[in-house]
Order: sequence, then structure tokens, then C-alpha cells
Amino acid sequence: PGQVLIPELIADEAALNVTGHMSPRLENATFFSLVRNSELDQMLSSIREVQDRFNIRFGYDWVFANDKPFTEEFMTTVRSYFTSGTPQFVTIPREYWSYPDWVDKDRAAESRRDAENQRVMYGGSESYRHMCRFNSGFFFYLLSSYRYYWRVEPGIKFSCDIIDDPFRLMREGSKKYVSAMIMPEGENAVKGLWTVVRQHFPADFFTSQVDHNNLASFITDDGGLTYNLCHFWSNFEIADLDLFRGEQYQEYFNALDATGNFFYERWGDAPVHSIYVALVLQPSEIMFLDTVGYYHKPNHACPRDETARKVNRCLCDPNEDWNWHTWNSCGKNYFKMQGHQLPPGIVW
Ligand code: GDP
Ligand code: MN
Repeated sequence: PGQVLIPELIADEAALNVTGHMSPRLENATFFSLVRNSELDQMLSSIREVQDRFNIRFGYDWVFANDKPFTEEFMTTVRSYFTSGTPQFVTIPREYWSYPDWVDKDRAAESRRDAENQRVMYGGSESYRHMCRFNSGFFFYLLSSYRYYWRVEPGIKFSCDIIDDPFRLMREGSKKYVSAMIMPEGENAVKGLWTVVRQHFPADFFTSQVDHNNLASFITDDGGLTYNLCHFWSNFEIADLDLFRGEQYQEYFNALDATGNFFYERWGDAPVHSIYVALVLQPSEIMFLDTVGYYHKPNHACPRDETARKVNRCLCDPNEDWNWHTWNSCGKNYFKMQGHQLPPGIVW
């Protein structure tokens, strides 16, 4: 009694998932974070970023996964940060985070020492390799009840409001893969990757974009001879999980995994996903989301378009934007292949 309800707030409240039930506006989608117990603070920070900039108006679920059981403290604290959407905590089954029996562990240890000497990023880390393999071939098994997922790492930021629901945009626009950052991979981490990719896919995947209507030219500048190292930075990734669940992806991953090079080299899930997406999807199924102001150490994306920054209430400096940094040619390459217009101030 006596409570004044402002129409706008009523509308907002209706969108809120305060009861924990799925609002009819939601897509069949979830956030997903692979995270260690030790990263609780950074995870809370990411949760606030996502909730404040987006999820408070939607209330999507969030699946947290860990190769070790989450501590009570981790789960209780994370739960207390949720006012909408439901967090779930999953311990990753051992078979998704261990050596396949054809991998020689001594050889793996030796190649980690080599990689470290060659200054491969995370070259000396064993857990990093399990992480990359898990993110390449297994994470989607934990999300079997969802159609779409949005990957969020601890310690990331969104500098802009995310007004439209990307999941809805995907369903309505038949999109299967969404990226917010495009860049080249470190060459010495993926030395043998392209050879396996070339052996796996028929030759015309690389040359005939008429037959395949793909984005092969985003990842190769010479008709498939070499990998140009361009990839979607997968620590931000929104995808249609059916992309990974299909037989074609399974065969691709198995071919890569059979080489043991997730352990003998340091293949990241970003090039593994990106190469597949570029070869198998139609260009129109791939979306670049440049209005969210994504930040993951040390790179920041910031919309170049001033109106976009204002509309989305961004807190970022376009001069620090990484996608269009002068020596990162992958963004331009992507726009060219997609036939997109460059953002203001960027020239071919
Ligand atoms: P970077 O983004 O390549 O610098 O690598 P990160 O250290 O951020 O790892 C990528 C993601 O995997 C992050 O979400 C980490 O929390 C997670 N991660 C990495 N290693 C492990 C691990 O050993 N266990 C668990 N549970 N998560 C990990
Ligand atoms: Mn990270």
C-alpha cells in the first residue's frame, strides 16, 4: 500500500528472473566459466561485470566447471552474488582432463621444457595443456541441456552495456559463432597444427570458397599453403553448442588429438575453434560483436564509433582498442573477407 510504481521499473522487474524461473524471454543458453578455486576474487569480478552490464535484465544460468571439486567457500560466495539466474557447479570428469593413453608423458614433459626455452606462452605449464584440450574437445559435454553458451573467464571486463541479448540475435539471425576480439596467435605454439588441418579437410575447403562458402581466407593468405595465425580470441566466445556436438567437429578434434600435440606442442583452443569455424561455417553464421568493450588482460576492445560508445555507456578509450591496433591485421582481414565496412577512422 502506498507504493509508487513507475511504469519503466515495472517493465524491468517483469524481465528480472527474481523467482529463479525461466522468463519466457530467455533463450536456451547459459554462461560458462572454467575456473580454479584460487581465482574466486577474479571470478566474482567477472560475475559483477556480466550481471551489471547484461544479465540483471535477463537472468541466464551460469555453469562453473573445475578439474578439482569447488570448495564450499567458493560455491557459497559465488551463489551470494547471484540475484538472477542460477549458478551450477561441476567437477570435470577425469577423462576430459587427463592424458589419453597414446600420449607419452616423458616426451610431453620434455617438449614442455623445450617450449619454455623457446618462450612459448605457457610453454612450461602442464595444466595449461589440459585446459586447452578440455576447451577444444570436451567443455560442451558439460552443457548438454543448453543450445547456446557464453564463455566468461575470471578477471574480464565489459566496458559497455550489452543491451541486446546476443543469444536472441544468434537464434534470430542464424548465427553460430560470436567473437569480440580478433588477433594473431604466437607462431611457435602451433607449429604442427596446420599440417594436420590440411590433412584432415579436403583441399577445396581452402581454395574454393564458392563450393564451401566459408571464411578460409580469414585464416590463410595463400590458398591454404600456410596458416596466417589469425583467430578469434576464445576467452570470449558465444557459440551454438551444436557446432561442437556434431560429428564433423568430433572427427576434426579426434584427428588433432590423435597427434598428441595438445601435449607435445601447445595448441590453444582459440586457433582450434577458429580454424574450424572459418572452414566449416558460412560467413553469415559468424558475428563480430564490437560494441561490448571486452577486456581480458592485456587487451581491450573499445568501439571506435562514438555513438556506439554513448548508446552503450562505454567506459573505455578507443585509442586503447586492440582489434584495430596498427600491427594487428587480423581484424581488417576478417572485415575484408566478410565484406564489412571498417569502423570510423580505420583505413585499409
Ligand atoms: P589465458 O587466458 O590464456 O592467459 O589463460 P588462463 O590462465 O586465463 O586460463 C584460461 C581459463 O582456464 C580461465 O578461465 C582459467 O580460470 C581456466 N584455467 C586454467 N588453468 C586451469 C586449471 O588448471 N584448473 C581450472 N579449474 N581452471 C583453469
Ligand atoms: Mn584468461
